[in-house]
Amino acid sequence: MDQGKIDILRARPVPAFSHLIEGQHVAASDGATLDVVSPIDGQVLTTVARGTAADMDTAIASARAAFEDRRWAGQPPAARKKVLMKWADLIEANALELAVLGVRDNGTEIGMALKAEPGSAAATIRYYAEALDKIYGEIAPTAGDILGLIHKEPVGVVGAIVPWNFPMMIGAWKLGPALAMGNSVVLKPAETASLTLLRLAELALEAGLPPGVLNVVTGEGAVVGQALGLSMDVDVLVFTGSGATGRRLMEYAARSNMKRVYLELGGKSPNIVFADAPDLAEAAKVSAAGIFRNAGQVCVAGSRLLVEAAIHDEFVAEVAKAAQAMRVGDPLQVDTQIGAVNSDVQLAQNLRFVDTAQAEGGQVVIGGHRILAETGGYYMAPTIVTGVTPDATLAQNEVFGPVLAVTPFATDDEAVRIANATVYGLAGAVWTSTLGRAHRMIRDVRTGVMHVNTYGGADGTVPLGGVGQSGNGSDKSLHAIDKYINLKTAWIKL
Ligand code: ADP
Repeated sequence: MDQGKIDILRARPVPAFSHLIEGQHVAASDGATLDVVSPIDGQVLTTVARGTAADMDTAIASARAAFEDRRWAGQPPAARKKVLMKWADLIEANALELAVLGVRDNGTEIGMALKAEPGSAAATIRYYAEALDKIYGEIAPTAGDILGLIHKEPVGVVGAIVPWNFPMMIGAWKLGPALAMGNSVVLKPAETASLTLLRLAELALEAGLPPGVLNVVTGEGAVVGQALGLSMDVDVLVFTGSGATGRRLMEYAARSNMKRVYLELGGKSPNIVFADAPDLAEAAKVSAAGIFRNAGQVCVAGSRLLVEAAIHDEFVAEVAKAAQAMRVGDPLQVDTQIGAVNSDVQLAQNLRFVDTAQAEGGQVVIGGHRILAETGGYYMAPTIVTGVTPDATLAQNEVFGPVLAVTPFATDDEAVRIANATVYGLAGAVWTSTLGRAHRMIRDVRTGVMHVNTYGGADGTVPLGGVGQSGNGSDKSLHAIDKYINLKTAWIKL
């Protein structure tokens, strides 16, 4: 990373953005805009269109028309592949510009943003582009006078609602397989992280994606998100975000056309450290990174540290040391390891969680407060709270901030019991040198992803999805494709 180039890009004024519908930049039907506040300094960066329900309906109608006239789905797989490969190339060619724009919008530290955002978006789109002409239908083993064919058809119009922590990465997890299979998509970015997704959609047009196949509508969740959820003309809704919104989307589906709804929700992921971990110093460093990178605004963050009682004090001290060695601050400095909290609302919520944890008997070992307030930005010191009982508010609720809850355990069974004692089931980890124990933990801890002697860092070849109230269906890997197709049986008498 070149600090000089980053500094040039960050000094550029950001133009006002509008929706992208039918290949055109379109203002809100009533002309309203939303201020985009940069969490780096609390200043207004630019504006986006504050969409209306009518805007959303226009975008859905455009996507429907694009699907029905088969301008995308009807193209030969090789042609669709070429467009998506070119799109991935364009994302890569514009990676630094996209990453800096995204950081100015959402506050993620640039090192992580560059890899996780344009880097992973390009890789994801390329992965599904490469896959799309290797997916076959099936011939069923029927009796001899019948030919049973199973076709895999695109579902039609996909609505995608994404959050602000990794908009390009998570957006691409939905767009890659949805577009590869020939669907049209209407994308609704988060209020506080829309800019890069609008740029991504512009690059898709440049790569040759026909207008209308990917429309982006910005604005408030409760307005445009709701209109997408309640639409009678959206076939599948895919979502990453909070449980509260996920629940609403299921209601919207039930109240409208019973569209399929796939949710990737929050987590309270247990990071379980046994005294026989192969390298406790390494475990402490990775555990700190696993909760504090991107200021804890990571759905799979290891936000509950369960430590074997025999090493509790010593291990917590190591994690605290590792956390304090991480540089918090301006996310556009290349050596920053913990960037800004996304918004003032989120920062206030993080701090309230710490107050509640203390009121419930938790002890703040490090952090617990806002820092760098003089910059106007939203920064929080990495925070570790010990003595968090399994039923405490901090053990049960996702903070989505740089706050680690620590709970000791005595036995394997107790570790599993505590690990599973939340409504969530997204990710988790176990640190141990005992093979059998590692496999037992993989089996017994109720999650979608289990790490052993590491945390995070999985690539696009493996699925990511939760169980329980962490969601259903998964992003990434070939399995994600199932969400974006219908199976159709053809039963033919010979
Ligand atoms: P967070 O609390 O982390 O911001 P949300 O679930 O509120 O998570 O936001 C994730 C996405 O859901 C955002 O794009 C947001 O605009 C959208 N959203 C929020 N409320 C609604 C709603 N009522 N209907 C549809 N989408 C919504």
